[in-house]
Amino acid sequence: RQSLKVGLIPADGIGREVIPAARRTLEALGSDIPKLQFVDLDAGFELFTKTGTALPEETVQALKECDCALFGAVSSPSRKVTGYSSPIVALRKELDLYANIRPVAAVAENPEDKPNVDLVVVRENTECLYVKQEVLTPGEHGLEARATRLITERASRRIGKMAFEIALGRPRKQVTIIHKSNVLSVTDGLFRQTIRDIPQASEGRYDGVKLEEQIVDSAVYRLFREPQIYDVMVAPNLYGDIISDAAAALVGSLGLVPSVNAGDNFVMGEPVHGSAPDIEGRGIANPLAAIRSAALMLRHLNYAAAADRIDKAVNEVIREGQVLTPDLGGSSKTEEVLDAVLKRL
Ligand code: NAD
Ligand code: MN
Repeated sequence: RQSLKVGLIPADGIGREVIPAARRTLEALGSDIPKLQFVDLDAGFELFTKTGTALPEETVQALKECDCALFGAVSSPSRKVTGYSSPIVALRKELDLYANIRPVAAVAENPEDKPNVDLVVVRENTECLYVKQEVLTPGEHGLEARATRLITERASRRIGKMAFEIALGRPRKQVTIIHKSNVLSVTDGLFRQTIRDIPQASEGRYDGVKLEEQIVDSAVYRLFREPQIYDVMVAPNLYGDIISDAAAALVGSLGLVPSVNAGDNFVMGEPVHGSAPDIEGRGIANPLAAIRSAALMLRHLNYAAAADRIDKAVNEVIREGQVLTPDLGGSSKTEEVLDAVLKRL
């Protein structure tokens, strides 16, 4: 590649505070990566309230011309708003970003030590309850709400393969399937069995990967009691969403956990956190999740050395503990944390 075209979609709330920090970090890499070209793009709930559309067609088309993208966060109201639907859920579908990869790792006090939490949640990103087919009907005893939960063999197989591939690149090489097949034997049963069948069809490629499984509720219990038992956790959309937020608590803050939405032809970095309306506009949002998301995006584009540089700088800032935002017990501003990262780059 001669140049790297990066779509930037800060969207709502603190997305607008942390995405610029991620951009500045990418710009500081210099010749480690191809020449950068940023494309500013609009989406989100605020845009919806102004224009009636949360995800303009121009944004989708412009993204398709980019090599990769960074997304901030959207504010999706919990009540139903006529005509509104979350742009991030739509984008994942539109660009077929079928995997949401969320590494959650603690920073050990001593750089030589192994952290007690070092796992990756691999979340299916296109189906499950997020197909959003919900209906409300009057029943005999009041309203009844129903939702469709879609699990397909195709989506389960490709997310399963992604999990095996990620495991191959990690020292422990272990995949744990998260499911609830004891109750949902048809939907979760299909997810579980499809992934269990992957190694046999892999012509030996996944022979070195240890395959485990765990029912989702006890998986969360064990995640809190003994997080070190997990390496790669592969889960249907909703369980994956919940587990990764839960795992974020183990490493101190949602403001630290990055992700990428990945498909076969596109990758979009996105911090795991939301738009955080409770701290919006105060300049105290933790930019590290967004900065790490930029690194993760580069890693998926095979710029591992550049990604390592960013991760190392971020880990140093966390380890030193002098310049941290309030979510980590510090009193520094977003800008100061960014400066500390840039200095260590
Ligand atoms: P949230 O992740 O926005 O915030 C949860 C808590 O973590 C808040 O107390 C917040 O202040 C804190 N927090 C999150 N990120 C932080 C950061 N970078 N630095 C410091 N503190 C941070 O979740 P929520 O409050 O449940 O949701 C708020 C809005 O975000 C909702 O409208 C929701 O729909 C949306 N949301 C969007 C996404 C997304 O865009 N992918 C994900 C989750 C939630
Ligand atoms: Mn979430």
